[in-house]
Amino acid sequence: TRGPRRRTSPGASTGDEGRRAERGAALKVCALSFMLTAATAGLLTLAEVHGLAPLHPVGDPTALLVILAVVFAAAVVTPVSFHYRGDTIMFALTEIPLLIGLVFVAPWQLVVVRVVGEAAGLGGIRRQSFVKLFFNLSSGATAAAVAAVIYHALIQHYVPVSPFGWLAGTVALGAAATFSQFVLHIVVRLNGDRMPRRTTPEVRTAALLLLASAALALVVLDAAWWNWWAVVPLVAVGALIVFAYSGYSRLTQRFGSLQRLYDFSDSLGSVDLEPSAAGWVVLEQVESVMRARRAQLYLIDQSGVAQRQMLNGTEQSPSGSVRLPETSVLTEVLRTGMATLYANNPGTTDPNTTDPVIGTFRDALIAPLRNAERAVGLLVALDRDEALDTFDTDDLRLFETLAAHAVSTLERSRLMEELQLEVETRVYQATHDHLTKLPNRSLFLNRAAAALEESGRAAIALLDMDRFKDVNDTLGHDIGDRLLCEVAERLSHAAYGRATVARLGGDEFALVVPNIIGPEEAIGIVRDLQAALSKPIDIDGLSLAISASTGVALAPEHGENIAALLQRADIAMYIAKDRRSGIELYSASRDQSMQRRLMLGGHLLHALEQGEQLSVMYQPIADLASGQVMRVEALARWKHPELGWVPAGEFIGIAEQMGLIGQVTDFVLAEACAQAGRWRQAGINLGLAINLSGRELSDDRLVSLVSHHLTKNKLPPQSVTLELTETEVMADLAEVSAVLARLARLGVRIAVDDYGTGYSSLAYLHRLPVQELKIDRSFVTNLVDDPSNRIIVRSSIAMAHSLGLTVVAEGAEDEVTCAVLADAGCDAVQGYYFSRPKTAGELQRWLIDGATLSYSKELPPLRPLRILDGSLDDDDLQRVRRGTGQA
Ligand code: C2E
Ligand code: MG
Ligand code: MG
Repeated sequence: TRGPRRRTSPGASTGDEGRRAERGAALKVCALSFMLTAATAGLLTLAEVHGLAPLHPVGDPTALLVILAVVFAAAVVTPVSFHYRGDTIMFALTEIPLLIGLVFVAPWQLVVVRVVGEAAGLGGIRRQSFVKLFFNLSSGATAAAVAAVIYHALIQHYVPVSPFGWLAGTVALGAAATFSQFVLHIVVRLNGDRMPRRTTPEVRTAALLLLASAALALVVLDAAWWNWWAVVPLVAVGALIVFAYSGYSRLTQRFGSLQRLYDFSDSLGSVDLEPSAAGWVVLEQVESVMRARRAQLYLIDQSGVAQRQMLNGTEQSPSGSVRLPETSVLTEVLRTGMATLYANNPGTTDPNTTDPVIGTFRDALIAPLRNAERAVGLLVALDRDEALDTFDTDDLRLFETLAAHAVSTLERSRLMEELQLEVETRVYQATHDHLTKLPNRSLFLNRAAAALEESGRAAIALLDMDRFKDVNDTLGHDIGDRLLCEVAERLSHAAYGRATVARLGGDEFALVVPNIIGPEEAIGIVRDLQAALSKPIDIDGLSLAISASTGVALAPEHGENIAALLQRADIAMYIAKDRRSGIELYSASRDQSMQRRLMLGGHLLHALEQGEQLSVMYQPIADLASGQVMRVEALARWKHPELGWVPAGEFIGIAEQMGLIGQVTDFVLAEACAQAGRWRQAGINLGLAINLSGRELSDDRLVSLVSHHLTKNKLPPQSVTLELTETEVMADLAEVSAVLARLARLGVRIAVDDYGTGYSSLAYLHRLPVQELKIDRSFVTNLVDDPSNRIIVRSSIAMAHSLGLTVVAEGAEDEVTCAVLADAGCDAVQGYYFSRPKTAGELQRWLIDGATLSYSKELPPLRPLRILDGSLDDDDLQRVRRGTGQA
């Protein structure tokens, strides 16, 4: 088994450390070779001393010596390989020249011709490195000397071609072979490796082969002994047999390969199409078909990154991605596109190579995996199973074919994966909201249906952000989107594991809680969600405080199908918004009023389009001191053909909620201003008060609209008063004050309506361009009987006056109230006592009749104000403080 093999050692890099270790090993091998040379010299000296001469000298040995040298050279250059039970066994036919030399030439001559012959073969033709050559030659020489000494010691006076001579020859050859093997072991040890243990059948095969080659050598010897020419036909026959055998063995080899290839394709055909599974099957097959210890698969994506799978026997190393550096042999194979074989002589001093990607290997088959367009990967088989065997060019061809089969399977599974991914993406996209990544409406409906089906007990909640439209309008859609994403994130985090959160669209989210025990559970979860939203959200340095209103409906109490539940949750949500309560559980009784609202909303929309059902009434406001009509307040009226009069308090709220309030204002402004213009033309110079809704104050349109109606009807701006409720003015001070300032610049007056119901302090109002305060009628109507209201009204009037504001009291229903108000210093009064709201025609007639406010200034005995005796409760005091703006 000595001697060189196939070509090449790869140009793979070994580190400095590797090089140092290599040099150390080389030195040791050289030292061993020296010792072997010395031993050879010793043995030859021993032979000379005992005068060992050729047993059967030939006349002129020169020709024989030359022939022997040539045969030695040929034997090491072309080793014969045998395929036996799937193993390839290599061996050099050195036994023949060795035995001939033992008989026909002197021991020293034998040693010399062997050294010369093998030096020519290994050094000259095989170009072995110095160290290897030195070792191979010295070990061969020693083995020859050992054989000579043993042979001569055994043969004595026996004839070599007798049975005992045969025995002696066989023993000598066996000793030489054993010696060589022994020395080889030592070298491998010196190298730091271990010779793989040979199994018993392997040892038996090796012994049989040795016996066979010894027998062959004996036959040649016999022929040469009797007649040198007989060797010629013998060699011819031998060559023929070897030739025929190798042909046969190549055939069986090829048949075996085909068989294995067939098995390979067969096993790939049934591979699960999951890509990494396909990879493992390919690797397993590579190991078994190529008889490799390890196998690796690299799949290269478009970006050039390789996904690696490594199989070591049966052990799978998890796949990972690797980059292929220039120094790797893999890169070289990819570049050339050629399947490549890297083989090392297992008997040499350092059979291992290290590659930066593959790792350390003894021999390797590397094939590129190509589809129609490009190289998609690499397939690698490493280390033949048998220590003393290696891959050869036949294996390379087989491996190439195998790679071609593998690539179609791998491609197929890759396509399958892409397809699967595509399907998954499509499904994902179809079921998820693209902005927030939450489940969308359709997935929500599925989940809700599943929850209902499962137990019949579930909760559905609808959550709508408060004033989200304002965020979108004022800060832009980009911030709006980011806000929604953050909200989605917080909601799904808070609901994690308990409920499914979905985005139904816009700022509306939905929740399905499966298997609930009772309403408390659902409400609890919703509360957690609301709490998650309570912390302000920071976006671009803006800190946005957000809130949401949620309606909850339960199955089976509020409905047994999703449509009904959703509708009920929607109603509950509207109620929550309306009451600013945050959360509402659906209730049938509230639904009544809600349903009326919804119905009215629909009718109102129609009424606004059609215009005939709406009208304006005017309620005069009188100066308390003079009793003269100061101005009239325009009040919207709606008469539905079937429902009759709908109270303003009801439909104004609905209009605000539905975003229709702008249209109502448009109508009232146009109608009232036109009327005031007509009155003015008729010589009736009436002031006009018009109600605005707070929502309109973020609307620039309002300023131009008011100015348009003023000019159109030739109304002096100061004759028009715009009334804004306190809560609305206070809600968003900064923004509102900008619009208010522009309205004030037009010259119109601004009044704060319903004063006392909100949370403003007069100190705040002071900063706004406000000229008038209208005290809410809830403080006025029972002024006479309620001392605490009297305190509020009195102190409010005093504070307002100190800020230079005019004060109007609303809702004065009787004479006494007017007297009390006058006594408190109030400037003007509005109420049923003076006049109910009137149509334009009624009002005109009433004015022409010379209506004035008349009341007795005499005050009746009133319940005293007993602030000091504690009859005011905390609540009253609170209201007093608010009303007067004192902290
Ligand atoms: P407001 O602006 O405070 O209007 C005064 C309300 O008090 C009117 O109710 C009026 O009829 C009522 N009222 C007047 N004197 C008395 C009284 O002595 N006793 C009682 N109990 N009530 C009295 P109305 O017309 O039902 O309007 C209700 C609210 O609807 C108004 O309150 C106002 O906030 C709103 N509103 C009415 N018309 C419009 C409008 O055109 N635009 C806007 N934005 N809001 C309007
Ligand atoms: Mg008003
Ligand atoms: Mg009012």
